[in-house]
Amino acid sequence: MSPQSPLASFRPNILVVDDNPTNLQLLVRMLKDQGYKARPALNGKLALRAAAREVPDLILLDVNMPEMNGYEVCERLKKDERLAGVPVIFVSALNETVDKVKAFAAGGVDYVTKPFQFREIEARVAVHIELCRRKRELEESYERLRKLEELRDALVHMVVHDMRTPLTAILGYMQLLEIKESENLSENGRNRIRQVMELVDNLMEMMNSLLDVSRMESGNMRLNLSGCELVGTVRTVLQGLESLAREHQVEVNAPDDPVTVVADQELIERVIGNLLANALKYTPVCGSVKVTVRSDPDSAFVSVTDDGCGIPEEYHERIFEKFGQVEANRDRRKHSTGLGLTFCKLVVEAHGGKIGVHSKAERGSTFWFELPRRPQCVHDASVIR
Ligand code: ADP
Repeated sequence: MSPQSPLASFRPNILVVDDNPTNLQLLVRMLKDQGYKARPALNGKLALRAAAREVPDLILLDVNMPEMNGYEVCERLKKDERLAGVPVIFVSALNETVDKVKAFAAGGVDYVTKPFQFREIEARVAVHIELCRRKRELEESYERLRKLEELRDALVHMVVHDMRTPLTAILGYMQLLEIKESENLSENGRNRIRQVMELVDNLMEMMNSLLDVSRMESGNMRLNLSGCELVGTVRTVLQGLESLAREHQVEVNAPDDPVTVVADQELIERVIGNLLANALKYTPVCGSVKVTVRSDPDSAFVSVTDDGCGIPEEYHERIFEKFGQVEANRDRRKHSTGLGLTFCKLVVEAHGGKIGVHSKAERGSTFWFELPRRPQCVHDASVIR
């Protein structure tokens, strides 16, 4: 065992199983001398009982034993959820390849032949105990990360909830000020009020994104399904983004016939809106943005292609994760949260669809999503949100 082990309290616990008392005592003593906690078991049944009482970190298991042989013991261990992960080293006088293969098939991780050399057993035990220690380390850090993530989500939820009320009040007071005190204020004063209102609006928008993502993740945002016509939806969204779109060449490539899916109209509108707003935001003025809508009998497909700054490949998955942003795009990320694409992914996947991106740095991007004509996950087409 490494003396600098970060798992300071980790004293490996090894179960030794052998029906020969002399062998058993020898192995147990040798392991104890090495600083391990070693427990003897004289047969398969006693071994299973001892393992269930206290889950060992490693088992040294004889093969030839009366009543229940080592292979059977190992197979039973592997069927028990609590014990399945415990590594088993077979120690046996059987020296044929077929015996060794059988031992690995039963779930063993190693095989030592009798008569054994202490140094060989020592070395093999040390390797498996080290693997076990590393596995525990990984499990512990995974658990720590999971708890931290839970804590972050709870914190985000709390902050967003608690901040929305005072922010709404601030916005209300500012509007009142603008209406009632307008005549008593200078032009400068009126501008300042408008600036504050705009900033509060941005803050509200960011908090709403956080809330939406957290609602979608917790399954609290249910789909309000109806017939959703995608070509019309794209055009409506574009009208809403007119001030941004005016500076770009925007083209819609769609069939003459309507492309209808059973979906939550409002959520799909927001997905298209997010993709289009990003395309316009990350494409220089006068750049081009093309929206394509097409369908086949089972699914409909929407893509938004821009000739903007593009996204390096290493970010293609990351940007769909919460708060995932491309470092190089920092300058263009005004009021960004890195939640827009997370929201899109959650919405599309809630409909049983897929979303993705094809892009290269400085070579533009195509964001696409595909929806089944009718989502299989939902039976009731009129679920109320
Ligand atoms: P936000 O735009 O609020 O940061 P998103 O989740 O919508 O959040 O996008 C995540 C990141 O993906 C953005 O910060 C940006 O770096 C990158 N991105 C998204 N769309 C594009 C695009 N069309 N072109 C280049 N980068 C993009």
